[in-house]
Amino acid sequence: MRVRTLAAVLLTGALALTACGKEGSPTEQGAPAGLFEVAKDVKVDGSPTFEKAKTRGSLVVGVKEDQPGLGYKDPTTNKYSGFDIDIARLISAKLGFDPEKIQFKTIQSAAREQALINGDVDYYVGTYTINAGRKEKVGFAGPYFVAGQDLLVKKDNTDITGKDTLKGKKVCSATGSTPVKRIRDENLTEPGNILEFQGYSQCVTKLLDGEVDAVTTDDAILKGYAAAEEGKLKVVGKTFSSEPYGIGVPKEDTALRTKMNDILQASLDDGSWQKIYDGTLGKSGSSAEKPKIDRY
Ligand code: GLU
Repeated sequence: MRVRTLAAVLLTGALALTACGKEGSPTEQGAPAGLFEVAKDVKVDGSPTFEKAKTRGSLVVGVKEDQPGLGYKDPTTNKYSGFDIDIARLISAKLGFDPEKIQFKTIQSAAREQALINGDVDYYVGTYTINAGRKEKVGFAGPYFVAGQDLLVKKDNTDITGKDTLKGKKVCSATGSTPVKRIRDENLTEPGNILEFQGYSQCVTKLLDGEVDAVTTDDAILKGYAAAEEGKLKVVGKTFSSEPYGIGVPKEDTALRTKMNDILQASLDDGSWQKIYDGTLGKSGSSAEKPKIDRY
């Protein structure tokens, strides 16, 4: 089992490496220089998280590391890139922190709420759907993007054409995610046919190996894998949910949430959101519709 897991990790790494040198590959994505001008003398009155970060002298930001185009860590350089990463960088710059004062910390889907509750991260930017259940535990700024659940299959697959064609098929997704919950709650395939891993890249490895028939999560994530696997996989393209992405913050820190909403609104108004989008997600063909900030 451990060897298999290691093999899967190595395989994922090898696939990621294959994607490295190409034009427009995840490692080369990013917003134009100068977009993240660091704000001076920033105050966020009443934010315990901001005070803690100021004292520490750095921000700890939770992200994903295996989602090309969104949150991706280059296995050779250890550099993070993607739309979520650039949103995280924009926020940190507007909070007055130099780029080198961000510590990215990889946190998988199932561990996000607890990481924020424990104070292990100051905020979290990683395809994190805002919903009522999660709002009982954490706060959300945003949304800064709206995705939708979709399916990733092998290029030559013809029998999976949407959510209602999954019965009898093996479907893989991440533990603690909204997509895996929807597959279960809506009985889209039999419980025994649902496979879960900590991250979606493990599911993609299983799909390439022919051990599962489909990977399900947000279209934006799946498009990144399809692009990275060069013609081996395709996204079905019929979304069946709305996944508004929020920046997770500690639940009680309303001051930080409000400040982040101000930063996001300004970036939507002044064109910097668009530039971040064009430099990252826009390259794999996700919709560029601007989100509407929801101040609750
Ligand atoms: N947006 C969905 C969620 O928050 C799926 C992607 C993810 O697991 O990060 O659960």
